[in-house]
Amino acid sequence: MIEYYEILFYNNGMIEESLAVLKNLADLSYFEQEEPAASSCVLAEDDPPAAQPTPSRASTGSIPEIFHAKKSGGGEIRLLKTVLSTACERNCNYCAFRAGRDFHRQTLKPDAMAKLFTQLNQAGIAEGLFLSSGVIGGGIRTQDKIIDTAEILRLKLGYKGYLHLKIMPGAEKDQVLRAMQLANRVSINLEAPNPSRLLKLAPLKTFADELLKPLRWADEIRRTINPLSAFNLRWPSLATQFVVGSVDESDRELLQITQYLHGKLSLSRIYFSRFEPVLNTPFENLPPENPMRQVRLYQAAFLLRDYGYTLEDFQYSDSGRLPLDADPKLAWAREHLAEHPLEINTADRIQLLRIPGIGPVSVKRILKSRNRNPIKELGALRALGISLERALPFILMDGKRPDRQLRLW
Ligand code: SF4
Repeated sequence: MIEYYEILFYNNGMIEESLAVLKNLADLSYFEQEEPAASSCVLAEDDPPAAQPTPSRASTGSIPEIFHAKKSGGGEIRLLKTVLSTACERNCNYCAFRAGRDFHRQTLKPDAMAKLFTQLNQAGIAEGLFLSSGVIGGGIRTQDKIIDTAEILRLKLGYKGYLHLKIMPGAEKDQVLRAMQLANRVSINLEAPNPSRLLKLAPLKTFADELLKPLRWADEIRRTINPLSAFNLRWPSLATQFVVGSVDESDRELLQITQYLHGKLSLSRIYFSRFEPVLNTPFENLPPENPMRQVRLYQAAFLLRDYGYTLEDFQYSDSGRLPLDADPKLAWAREHLAEHPLEINTADRIQLLRIPGIGPVSVKRILKSRNRNPIKELGALRALGISLERALPFILMDGKRPDRQLRLW
């Protein structure tokens, strides 16, 4: 049964009702992360994410449907993550919304959703919106509802804030373009790294036609069409998500497609969502994935995107998994730099990026600093924001190994 809500919001007295409606939708929602507040996705210091599990949901605590998300320019945004409908005609094996699963479905019409969000926005509860939906009446029809909501927000209600729109499987190219004209970010979840894995995960989705093709369209639009028609004169960023740990996909497979998506389609973010079983789904008896696997994948993905690493720079088990007990950058450095440390005063940018504790920001600082004077003191390195404990075993400073100095320091 699908229940439609017609909601009119005229005053703040309706906020409680709005939140109750959202809670009904969100209780069963399946969301990817959006710039999670935890350090695993955003570099707090200057290296790939720390070796700690990422919470899949960065809730505010008081209103579970509002998430704290990192803004690309720094700071955080309170993001309402919700769906137009918890009904779905697809049957993805891991998903709480899958067709045939017995629960009470709910759907909001576009104008109701737009008004609901506007009310929360004006009350200062939600600063941005991430809108997705279960698929009802096909991907094209569902995409129209998402676009309708965005058009009401942008054109009728004058909303100028952050908007992340999901592209539905099977959406058409002109719908991708329209969503891109309205949003700050669009995303299309590939879910699995290739067609054979997707078949096991989501039997009614087709990898190339329904998922990868819209991502290619979005990239093509950004490269070939002037963004003057976009609401803020800029094309939105692109993102995708993979479900990790339910269909024996290897880390190597995930990183192969990650490299392609960052390198060829310029995706800004790739999310790895560890599998957790949902009752009354075909995967209900599978074990949840280890959170540390998600952390290692994020670390490796950052190294591919920002540090010049290639797939061959990582160690894999026979089954193609990254070791859970080793930070991939540290593992590479132990193998290649422990006996051949790099001189901090002469190494080039690419070499410096290979040193644990040194990332793009501190590389810039090192290059600037040593242009003035050679770096000879541990204190000078520390002042540049470098993690001495991580970096020192792999560098020379003025021809000497500073890790030995550190013991005396
Ligand atoms: S398409 Fe699949 S993942 Fe998306 S809501 Fe439907 S069943 Fe869930």
